[in-house]
Amino acid sequence: MTTYTSAIDDQQLERLQGVVHGDVVQPGDPDYDEARKVYNAMHDKRPAIIVRAVDTGDVVAAVDFAREQGLMLAVRGGSHSVSGYGTCDDGLVLDLGRMRGIRVDPQARTARAEGGCTWADLNHATHVFGLATTGGVVSSTGIGGLTTGGGMGYLARRCGLACDNLISVDMVTADGSFLTCTEEQNADLLWGVRGGGGNFGVVTSFEYRLHPVADILGGPTFYPLDGDVMRRYRELIAESDETFSALLAVTLGPRLPFLPERWHGRPLCGVVTCWTGPEDRDDQVRARLGELGPVVGQHVGRMPYPVINTLFDEELPAGLFHYWKGTFSRGLPDGAIDAYTEFGATTPTIQSATVVFPIDGACHRVGPEETAFAYRDADFSTALSPTLPTRAECEDTIGWARAFHGALKPYSQEGGYVNFMDQDDQDRVEINYRQNYDRLTMLKQRYDPGNLFRLNHNIEPWMIYSKGSVIVGDQ
Ligand code: FAD
Repeated sequence: MTTYTSAIDDQQLERLQGVVHGDVVQPGDPDYDEARKVYNAMHDKRPAIIVRAVDTGDVVAAVDFAREQGLMLAVRGGSHSVSGYGTCDDGLVLDLGRMRGIRVDPQARTARAEGGCTWADLNHATHVFGLATTGGVVSSTGIGGLTTGGGMGYLARRCGLACDNLISVDMVTADGSFLTCTEEQNADLLWGVRGGGGNFGVVTSFEYRLHPVADILGGPTFYPLDGDVMRRYRELIAESDETFSALLAVTLGPRLPFLPERWHGRPLCGVVTCWTGPEDRDDQVRARLGELGPVVGQHVGRMPYPVINTLFDEELPAGLFHYWKGTFSRGLPDGAIDAYTEFGATTPTIQSATVVFPIDGACHRVGPEETAFAYRDADFSTALSPTLPTRAECEDTIGWARAFHGALKPYSQEGGYVNFMDQDDQDRVEINYRQNYDRLTMLKQRYDPGNLFRLNHNIEPWMIYSKGSVIVGDQ
């Protein structure tokens, strides 16, 4: 087991500074305060060292240094971790944000992207070839955390989760080894990073399968907050082919020109559509949206696929205060719809929208043990995400989120999506990985027995939960 210290050997630090091609930032450096910031302002941490890596050599040097010096290690890609796992006090932050190279092979329909890319980077690079893969619905989210946790987005029904489209990864593991992981080579590790989070090492590059997706019909349609709208949304998803997807958002009316002023700030249902089917069926899609309920505002049109993934960007800049909870559900039970209606009425801010992602279709065609992502029978994944301008206001809404989550519990599966969990959900890790937990623990024992990569929804290497009893291994 790694024991964490804060005394850093000066000579070794000098050596690290000499080896690293990127930056080694420390307290007192002019850019320290900027370099230590993460997306969720709830996590105001003061690392001892921030390595802003530019290549694999820097990653190996940082991992070796953290391990040898007994430092807590935080790995940061796009910095969107709601639980703040991309930073820590007194330890080493390995920031991949400068590793953003991408190579697309349009013939093979694949893309290889470095570990610090955002979805804006990847969508931009692939769109020029009329290709895309499933990614997050906010463009500044990192591919690193999103893919390793599973990865839901508009294309999930048609193309599967982001991790289902992962063909291979290059990784640096806890002992500083560099491994390429494919279906043929180090296949166990590839299995683990397809949903097992950042538990097994630092992915320096991800290779994705791409799909023909160019322009889409997309955008939001708003209705009054009403259970009947949600029931019709449920029917719409169930009866639509996989080229149609739409997020359900329980939100407050945004101040946008297409929404009449009287709805600004009032509780609403939003259905954010992404139709990747043929243009000559656009009118049918619009007509179905019109049947969900009385439309109070709509902004749906043809747009390049990358654009649909920027619609929320402006509302969700870095520096706001977030607290999240997540659930999975089979279908969208009436009891859950009642909870959305009740708690949706007191949604604290526009940014605090409760978002329901459909994850049926192609996500269900992958077996529950084929990847580390366990909930292949879930139809919907919900994020409850109070997001406020100040820490105090955010802390005031945590009770609301917990009560809302509690009201959804009878209608939800036991586990939830690790990427929608906050730090206080660590005790749900085992159930979040369900039948895959023991295999993940064994993988962790093999590749990270000292738990160097522990700032994540942590699979502890010394715990095997078997048939209800806890076997505690060597610590
Ligand atoms: P970071 O904070 O940089 O990383 C989080 C953790 O991921 C790290 O601590 C590390 O454990 C791991 N990690 C990151 N990069 C690497 C790497 N290269 N190698 C190994 N491990 C790595 N999720 C969805 O599925 N779909 C969405 O549409 C979606 N939208 C979101 C929108 C917002 C505004 C936010 C805040 C989150 C959203 N999420 C979504 C959740 C998101 O998937 C997680 O927050 C995810 O951790 C973000 O990844 P990141 O690289 O930006 O985060």
